[in-house]
Amino acid sequence: MHENRMNWKKRAGVWARMALLALAAALLLWLIFTCAAEGLKLVHARRQQDVREMLPLTPADAVSEPAAEAPAEPAAGEPSELPATEDWMLTLVNPWNPLPEDFAIETAEVEGKYQLDARAVEPLRHMLADCRADGLDPIICSAYRTNEYQTKLFDKQVRKQRGKGLPDDAAVAAAAEVVAVPGTSEHQLGLAVDLCARSYQLLDEGQEGTAEFQWLRTHCAEYGFIVRYPDGTTDLTGIIYEPWHFRYVGEQAAREIADAGITLEEYVNEKNGAD
Ligand SMILES: [Zn+2]
Repeated sequence: MHENRMNWKKRAGVWARMALLALAAALLLWLIFTCAAEGLKLVHARRQQDVREMLPLTPADAVSEPAAEAPAEPAAGEPSELPATEDWMLTLVNPWNPLPEDFAIETAEVEGKYQLDARAVEPLRHMLADCRADGLDPIICSAYRTNEYQTKLFDKQVRKQRGKGLPDDAAVAAAAEVVAVPGTSEHQLGLAVDLCARSYQLLDEGQEGTAEFQWLRTHCAEYGFIVRYPDGTTDLTGIIYEPWHFRYVGEQAAREIADAGITLEEYVNEKNGAD
């Protein structure tokens, strides 16, 4: 009996020690994971920062002022300053305002092989149909891009630049001149579409001379679209003049932006300031 009690006591002691050990191990694991996650976040943020610092058009001298003033992407859970109904249409994505990492939208098919935010598909179809009814022939050259696809485009460009003999850093910077750094392309937002004339399928300034662009520039606001990167606004948008890249912002914002002759950056800034 005495011996049994001793054994029981011993066993209880062993169990208690094992429970303590398990608790300590769990605590240690939790600490390790937390630190690792924080470390990864830091590395990621640092990498984005590095890339942004290397961007040829974005750099400190050219755009540090607007960048500092630009409203930050509303953080998850933070009340947005814009009414929720407009919020999604006016999301700002540029070299200083990357997409949130958990960004997700519902896309829908347009013109066969392209995808766009489902809410912008009808306005786009309507605009293209009316442009065609006027005897013109606009086509989509690019629409929604997944992060994987944008990364593929970017990496391909980096390899191309390395092939020209550029060292890694310079190759990344040169690639960013041509292809948006993944996470900072408006195409990933699902509200941007590249439109060109069937007779001129080049994404360069020559697009401006096509009758299709002339029509689209004149009428796009009626359908809720804007010419997102107008000539001479690179220091505000971080992007070169692109007379093919249209962005859906909703009819009201599109009219106000077109009438005022301003960029989406300025419009969102003003709106946020006014509220
Ligand atoms: Zn584009």
